Amino acid sequence: MKHPYTIVDAHCDTVGYFWNPGAELRTNDRHLNLDYMKQYKGYIQFFASYIDANAENYLSRTLELFDAFYREIEKNKDCVQLITDSKTLHRALDENKVGAMMTVEDARALCGQLANLRIFYKLGVRALGLTWNHDNGVAEGALSNSGVGLTDFGREVVCEMNRLGMIVDVSHASKKAYWDVIETSTEPIMASHSNSEAICAHPRNLDDEQIRAIIKTGGMIGINIFPTFLTDKETANVDDIIRHIEHILSLGGENVLGIGTDFDGIGSTPDDINNVGELYKLFDKMKKIGYSDSLITAITHGNFVNFLDKMLKNENN
Ligand SMILES: [Zn+2]
Repeated sequence: MKHPYTIVDAHCDTVGYFWNPGAELRTNDRHLNLDYMKQYKGYIQFFASYIDANAENYLSRTLELFDAFYREIEKNKDCVQLITDSKTLHRALDENKVGAMMTVEDARALCGQLANLRIFYKLGVRALGLTWNHDNGVAEGALSNSGVGLTDFGREVVCEMNRLGMIVDVSHASKKAYWDVIETSTEPIMASHSNSEAICAHPRNLDDEQIRAIIKTGGMIGINIFPTFLTDKETANVDDIIRHIEHILSLGGENVLGIGTDFDGIGSTPDDINNVGELYKLFDKMKKIGYSDSLITAITHGNFVNFLDKMLKNENN
């Protein structure tokens, strides 16, 4: 029996693992694999290529990660559908395949060139995290105090992403960079894997004003399950995740809430969710405490499906 949920997860770091020789998406002992994903009614995963600051050449590292991603997609094409537009999104959902969308985490991948952004789009990238925790010539990171915000080049990047139909991801951006993006972007934005600062005071989380701006502009927030972003306690469980969801709901966020687990990018997991195979426990708990089916559906995947339908251009070729 499958878990009765379709899930959209807006962030994982599994591509970094694909980069290792012998890595397998189908079966592995890490957080995320196809065996787990196929236990659900449906599964759409954003696969981030995270560009390590220590890489010798950012562009060639980025391309190696894309190559590793495509190797795993090809190998598993019997049950995986690449998502580049809303047609392929709905094909994945209708044909009960795992949907895989390419994203990039840290715009250092661009090496300062808009041309690379355009080529990444052609290679299938549909969302880009402007920065990681530090400054990168595009945007100020969440752990930086430089006051740089979004750079002039960063503004060009955001405008070009708007034109291309690539989703701007502000998880990891500093507050100043965040507000500069809100001012610059003509399209709704996404915080793919960030929580509420009011519930857990961590610079990676969003304050209420930031959350309200996403609600106002029709963006998305993917709830991160990393205990450090959930609670001050040593450990976390589904109740801690639900506290963040409750808070965002209290601000009127029922249409902007989704999931962005951060699987394979986090050093620890909640006690009761050790991998994708256990994510259903979060939604079971929501059901148990009285969440309506329609609200659970919105959070598991409905809001993200609507957002992607709105944001992704349909390809005619
Ligand atoms: Zn991240």
